[in-house]
Amino acid sequence: MKVDQQEISSLIKNRLEQFSFKAEGDEVGSVVETADGIARITGLPSAMLGEMLEFPNKVFGIVFNLEASQVVVIILGKKTEVSIGDWAKCTSRIMEVPVGPALLGRVVNAVGIPIDGKGPIVTDRFRPVETAVPGVLDRTPVEQPLQTGYKVVDALIPIGRGQRELIIGDRQTGKTTLAIDTIINQKNADMVCIYVAIGKKSASIVEVVETLTKHGAMPYTIVVDASADDPAAMQWLAPFSGTAMGEEFMYNHHKDVLIIYDDLTKHANAYRQISLLLKRPPGREAFPGDIFYLHSRLLERSARLSKELGGASITSLPIIETQRGDVSTYVPTNVISITDGQIFLQSDLFYAGFRPAINAGISVSRVGGKAQIEAIRKLSGKLRLELARFREKESFTAFASELDAETQQQLKRGMILVEILKQDKNVPMPVEEQVVSIFLSTSNMIEHLDLTVVKKFELDLLERIRNTDSEVLKVIRETSKFSPESEQKIRAHIDALLVELK
Ligand code: ATP
Ligand code: MG
Repeated sequence: MKVDQQEISSLIKNRLEQFSFKAEGDEVGSVVETADGIARITGLPSAMLGEMLEFPNKVFGIVFNLEASQVVVIILGKKTEVSIGDWAKCTSRIMEVPVGPALLGRVVNAVGIPIDGKGPIVTDRFRPVETAVPGVLDRTPVEQPLQTGYKVVDALIPIGRGQRELIIGDRQTGKTTLAIDTIINQKNADMVCIYVAIGKKSASIVEVVETLTKHGAMPYTIVVDASADDPAAMQWLAPFSGTAMGEEFMYNHHKDVLIIYDDLTKHANAYRQISLLLKRPPGREAFPGDIFYLHSRLLERSARLSKELGGASITSLPIIETQRGDVSTYVPTNVISITDGQIFLQSDLFYAGFRPAINAGISVSRVGGKAQIEAIRKLSGKLRLELARFREKESFTAFASELDAETQQQLKRGMILVEILKQDKNVPMPVEEQVVSIFLSTSNMIEHLDLTVVKKFELDLLERIRNTDSEVLKVIRETSKFSPESEQKIRAHIDALLVELK
């Protein structure tokens, strides 16, 4: 075959003309290979690690690997949106997302594009998804409470603003519910909440948004959703994007922020998938070597800032799903070691009807104690002690008839405690009412009641006080103290209700 040089060069010229890029002085390379949401690009010698690249049709990607003659990019979009021969342009920017109050009440994807059908988000503020974490001098100790509205958490595993508290448990043990109820409980707490959903079914996101809307929590909440249908790259990005949105409120609006990562197990899996596609060497459980760094640099961004920086905070509640209660696998142990405490949820408690299914005995909060309000702190000491004593003797319940009177009495007291610590979903309790309930549980005044009526007694007591003596609740709320006068008044209400029962 005769090769006509002229013909070849005109062919190449024609081909090149089809590329409709506007170079603007930036480097432009071309895609030489693409598969599974990963693209290899030549002709970008000055691309930086983590830099955002632009492809045709406003598709973006992030540089993940720099190789001798190519850069490897994860595509933030559908696999089919980038093909071989497409141009790719450096943007000299690392990935950014839109931030600011305009996002409140909205559901957005991992790059900040609204997916709730409520029109565009109008904001001129953007923040990089990855930033340096606040240093030691930029922080102050955690000392303000973040109320979850769950008695068992606020009394025994208190969370402070700026803390990182892990919620860990098997499937279907109430992890998401605990997190969502905490958001609902922030209604009058002047808090911005961000719920990051990673790898969930779209239906469960709809449910979450419905619950938040029904309880009036959406006006102060942003939902960032990278669902199971989204590419792994979006699932990997979502928690970083959500945190950037939170940082805007913390640094620039001096507002306290609560952020939920639901869940980091799926996040780790998405990152593992990307890493394997990039042919990075797999380590333990096939996770890449930097999986610890991935989660630590995310969670280190939670902080309580110093006064000079405005004193606001980001509190995070990462969620981890375990298999049959095993916390010794790779990702759970990592996240346990990064966070300032864990709330353990257990299936056996859940199915035994103890909901929230929190095992208070092994759950801890390493920094929240200082943040607890005085009234609760005063009462929780006794609660903790009695609960521990009860757990110790609990195994004897099977032989109840053969036990001495004192042990029997202790068991009964313990069962009353456990009964009162139960709490329905979506009804977070204001802290002053928690004080009443916890006092009731440890007062030994209702020991003679049948266990089946204890829960009703608690609710009746709260309603009675709400209706006839709201002043006592107001005093506890405003002073954060449980004074002897308040105690006396509540005792009187308990007595009166007991008389009514007779
Ligand atoms: P998954 O592993 O599927 O994400 P999860 O651990 O997040 O599950 P949830 O979805 O929060 O669990 O809850 C599981 C079920 O238990 C839901 O139907 C929820 O309504 C119910 N549930 C959770 N907490 C309570 C509670 N305190 N009282 C009553 N029901 C509850
Ligand atoms: Mg869940």
